Amino acid sequence: MYDYIIVGAGSAGCVLANRLSENPEVRVLLLEAGSSDWNPLVHMPAGIAQLVGQKGVNWDYSTAPEPALQNRSLWWPRGKVLGGSSSINAMCYIRGHAKDYDEWAAMGCEGWDWQSVLPYFRKSESNTRGSNAWHGDEGPLSVSDPRYLNPLTPVFLEAAEQAGLSATDDFNGASQQGFGLYQTTTREGQRCSSAKAYLKPVRARKNLTVITKAMASRVVFEGDRASAVVYTVAGKGGFCEAASKEVILCGGSINSPQLLMLSGIGPAASLQQLGIDVIQDLPGVGGNLQDHLDTCVLQRSTQSITYDSTNQVLAGIQFLLFKQGPGTSNVAESGGFWRTALAEDERPDIQFHFVPAQLDDHGRNKLPGSGYTLHACFLRPKSRGRLHLVSTNVQHKPRIEAGYLSDAEGFDMKVMIEAVKLSRKILSQPVFDSFREKELFPGEQVQSDAELTEFVREKAESIYHPVGTCKMGAANDPDAVVDSYCRVKGVRGLRVVDASVMPKLIGGNTNAPTIMIAERVADLIRGS
Ligand SMILES: Cc1cc2nc3c(=O)[nH]c(=O)nc-3n(C[C@H](O)[C@H](O)[C@H](O)COP(=O)(O)OP(=O)(O)OC[C@H]3O[C@@H](n4cnc5c(N)ncnc54)[C@H](O)[C@@H]3O)c2cc1C
Repeated sequence: MYDYIIVGAGSAGCVLANRLSENPEVRVLLLEAGSSDWNPLVHMPAGIAQLVGQKGVNWDYSTAPEPALQNRSLWWPRGKVLGGSSSINAMCYIRGHAKDYDEWAAMGCEGWDWQSVLPYFRKSESNTRGSNAWHGDEGPLSVSDPRYLNPLTPVFLEAAEQAGLSATDDFNGASQQGFGLYQTTTREGQRCSSAKAYLKPVRARKNLTVITKAMASRVVFEGDRASAVVYTVAGKGGFCEAASKEVILCGGSINSPQLLMLSGIGPAASLQQLGIDVIQDLPGVGGNLQDHLDTCVLQRSTQSITYDSTNQVLAGIQFLLFKQGPGTSNVAESGGFWRTALAEDERPDIQFHFVPAQLDDHGRNKLPGSGYTLHACFLRPKSRGRLHLVSTNVQHKPRIEAGYLSDAEGFDMKVMIEAVKLSRKILSQPVFDSFREKELFPGEQVQSDAELTEFVREKAESIYHPVGTCKMGAANDPDAVVDSYCRVKGVRGLRVVDASVMPKLIGGNTNAPTIMIAERVADLIRGS
């Protein structure tokens, strides 16, 4: 018998496993469907280029055909390994805009305004720059400045300046807007996943049990109280472990709603169609799906100085021996946040990631030669999607209807077009003259808004930030799945704590906000 059973050892799950087992009286079980993070590519930041396509550490999801994107199915990698997606992500350390959290509070998420969440960002963080009003230097999660820069990264930052876009040296400080280097979740040149930050240091605790290759298939209820979890290990058994206090789902934005629905919590009619006994009718489970859609302007380079031509053997040896050189780079070393003319308030509405390499189809389509890619995504899309359970078997992937560019006014597409235009403006600055060859995507012939619209439909991809499918909200919010304590509505002893509870997508990458959520809920659970 355990006190708490946590399902999923990802960004959030590792935090909860650590914080709850701080009390030696409390027994915690952490179930993770993936294996341990033995793969060296997890730990070498530049390993992301190879890692992202590896099936062993990836759930390898795809959306259903997206009507607004020429019926393409978009690829959604998610981490299936200790650390979850924090073990395969691009490591950019971003919190979003202060106003994003004030907006959560205004939507009914009491206690999630910026002033309330800032202490948890600070608590989680160990920033190599030291502590100040925004940053902490004593937390488990290491945040560092880059050890190595590709020669084109400073060129990109100068180009932004030439384009009249100001610089910033801290996207997570006083003002988010500007261009600069990303700080990354790395420690001494290596990835600092949530597993490395929170789990590894406490694995020896006697009151913490971690089981890998353990796939949870259902939460068991006694009346309206979650009392146990059913799971298999390496595909075998139908084990059942009891939780005397709580079951906490940390499976991420796709798997947590899937598990809720498999356990009888979700839209009643669709559960009944699959023959699932309804424990609680919650229409919001799987809904409110939001993601950052991203476009890439890809420019061929006249000089072979990008990561396309890095000697990988040499980089690997340099990394192994000294933790220096290109192997320590997260590849997306720099970027920026900017307000377009369409921005609806003071918050930047576009985020850029500059990649000094040719990145087509998530890097899965290897192109010959050298080039550089400027990603741009719209930070607050109005479009919403939904997940659907298609089977009672946990192994069958849910149907993901991301709903990209489905907003009635077409506002999301307008901002995407602005994003491409601004990307081109930056890449056309004089400082790039000696590097610029032909533009591969969208291609010089693509100029009018109608042509850019078609380009977005043909080429836009996810930048991996799905959230919102177990929305947090007020008691009277019909779409809310969890309350401000992340407790599932209408039942007892069950929480969801991961990126799925975000009521609205924040303006930035989602790893640090997910870790913050888990830090804060750990405190709520412990009653402090
Ligand atoms: C390729 C990529 C690049 C990204 N880049 C960045 C970036 O640069 N910066 C940033 O801030 N964010 C980035 N993100 C997003 C960020 O990593 C995620 O938002 C964050 O990790 C989500 O955390 P989570 O706890 O919700 O889910 P996850 O970290 O995905 O954890 C869920 C865990 O639950 C496990 N699990 C699921 N179902 C079950 C089950 N039934 N039984 C047992 N275990 C289960 C999974 O295997 C996984 O380990 C990126 C994501 C990806 C995929």
